[in-house]
Amino acid sequence: MKFEKDLKVPDSIPQVGIEQAIKLMETGKLYRYNFSTNFEEDSGRKIIDRELASEVAKLESEFSSYTGHKYAIAVNSCGSALFLSLKAAGIEFQDKVLTNAFTFTAVPSSIVHAGGIPLYVECNQQYLIDLEDLKSKIEANPDVKFFVLSHMRGHISDVDAIQEICNQAGIYLIEDCAHSLGSQWYDDKIEKHVPVGHHGQISCFSSQSYKLMNSGEGGFVATDDEKIAAYCILAAGSYEKLYKKHISRPFDEGLFESLKPEVPNFSLRMTNLTAAIIRPQIPTLSEKISQYQQNYNQLANILATVDNLSVPSPLERVKRVPDSIQFNLVNFTSKQAEEFLRQTGSRGVTMQIFGHMDNARYFKNWKYSFEDLPALEQTEQIVSFACDLRLPLSLNVEDINLIGYIIKDVIYKIVASENRIDYKEGLTDNFQDLDEVVSKYDKWVSFYDEEHHNNGWKILLNHFAYTLNSYLKADDKILDVGCGTGLLAKELSSYNLQNLHGTDISKESLKLAEKLNIYQSLSVGELGKKLDFADNTFDAWVSSGVFTRKQVPLNAFEELNRILKPNGLIMVAFRVEDDDYYYNKIKEYCNQNILEEVWKTRLGVLKSCNHDLVILRKIGNP
Ligand SMILES: *Cc1c(COP(=O)(O)O)cnc(C)c1O
Repeated sequence: MKFEKDLKVPDSIPQVGIEQAIKLMETGKLYRYNFSTNFEEDSGRKIIDRELASEVAKLESEFSSYTGHKYAIAVNSCGSALFLSLKAAGIEFQDKVLTNAFTFTAVPSSIVHAGGIPLYVECNQQYLIDLEDLKSKIEANPDVKFFVLSHMRGHISDVDAIQEICNQAGIYLIEDCAHSLGSQWYDDKIEKHVPVGHHGQISCFSSQSYKLMNSGEGGFVATDDEKIAAYCILAAGSYEKLYKKHISRPFDEGLFESLKPEVPNFSLRMTNLTAAIIRPQIPTLSEKISQYQQNYNQLANILATVDNLSVPSPLERVKRVPDSIQFNLVNFTSKQAEEFLRQTGSRGVTMQIFGHMDNARYFKNWKYSFEDLPALEQTEQIVSFACDLRLPLSLNVEDINLIGYIIKDVIYKIVASENRIDYKEGLTDNFQDLDEVVSKYDKWVSFYDEEHHNNGWKILLNHFAYTLNSYLKADDKILDVGCGTGLLAKELSSYNLQNLHGTDISKESLKLAEKLNIYQSLSVGELGKKLDFADNTFDAWVSSGVFTRKQVPLNAFEELNRILKPNGLIMVAFRVEDDDYYYNKIKEYCNQNILEEVWKTRLGVLKSCNHDLVILRKIGNP
């Protein structure tokens, strides 16, 4: 199965923004200072008629209200905002500036642009600043004065701890919030979440197409510091008395006039056209954010069942805005990682690995910023297997399921292709009696899951769960027949099927299933005998690896049909080598109009999962 939507697609511009942009073009007033009104202070009262302000001036005022900063200055990119921030903070030629080793090239570039020398800090397994490394870098470089902390991909480091470390060392903290607009940090003093971007003296934002707001290009400096604000307004390109056209500014003419001769004009202004298309996006942010969070949580839940993949967990105090997902491939070789990218890509799920020689987020590609390659072994190790996948707003629940399915399918296939072993201990021959079945399974328990992960059985379970999910609702009551250690249920619950009940003959297996905490109930049950459930109890029963090698008598189907609701579903896997022993019985039921086959596929990938997967609907009773 292939994913067909474009994952690179940016968010569209709200209609109001498009219309406002056209109006502006008709008047030709695209320059932010084309609007002639000055905003003055009259005996302590600010005289502001917002209607007369330019789009950019209005946007700055609205943006700063959103982020909770006193002042915002709109510029042409976040890279420019970072550059301006460093200049405003007083950087001098060849000053050292701490920053993340895991970030985007625009960040060290802005430091180089401002004349500084980046000093990279390692990230940890969760893609956050390694605080120990930060401390030792500061100790080794007592002359370092600045830290540009990048909330890369919206991963928020421990900003309280970082703020404390910076305060102690007299380091000026600037936050790169390009990818963290809308993110929140739990402030334990006021016991509330507050917007991220208030731990440093300056925060910088982006409205480049792949951020939460899209204007193609655009950025903001946000600060509570009057002098910084005045500097940035002037340096961004406000000359003579143009600063008076800003709504979001310190109303202190003396401050501007005294700074003016000292501040170069770097011409980094935002145009009215850009502001016009950003403004109507601000009221849409909270809805966008919850959509991003929903999609992300859904995908993270699907991926949580994969042993070879780890999704970084945010700090408890953080509410992220995840418009993309990152995860690490675990115990993969570089070759396997390449293969993973190739196979997912060819099925439409295009990803990148940060630590690629062509990736702008890999520090080794920032040669412009160092003479000798810095030793950053930890970051190197992490980014070499860190995958990055965009989750644009156009994705719906089904899209996320399909993406999750494809990622898991590829991983399971890669793992299985290197482990072409069949079962060590498991089931080889037909059974003599029930005792043999029970003792076999009880003994198998200790390496059952690992064996099934390695030999490709999970390819089947993933396909099984993904398909069944499209036929059922989240709260449909499902009986997992011969549930064993819960491998199938894990996959089912990853696709959000919640109302799961299990039954099995092996008590040892049930003990492990219990530990998963995903079943509503578990019980010992012998197939072919009476089961302890009332008639018409379940919306579906499912079973994999059970109806095989004649270990269950054929009459088990009758009892299972009894406890299934009318129109209820059966999804069951039959081993191809079993000479259709069970499948023939099912076909008999179909001929008698007791069951109806609704879907069937053959998974012939590997010997271990060479199975027919069948979905049937209950019509009547035998
Ligand atoms: C996009 C991005 C930038 C650069 O923003 P521009 O507006 O393109 O200059 C900087 N830092 C991070 C973390 C980003 O994601």
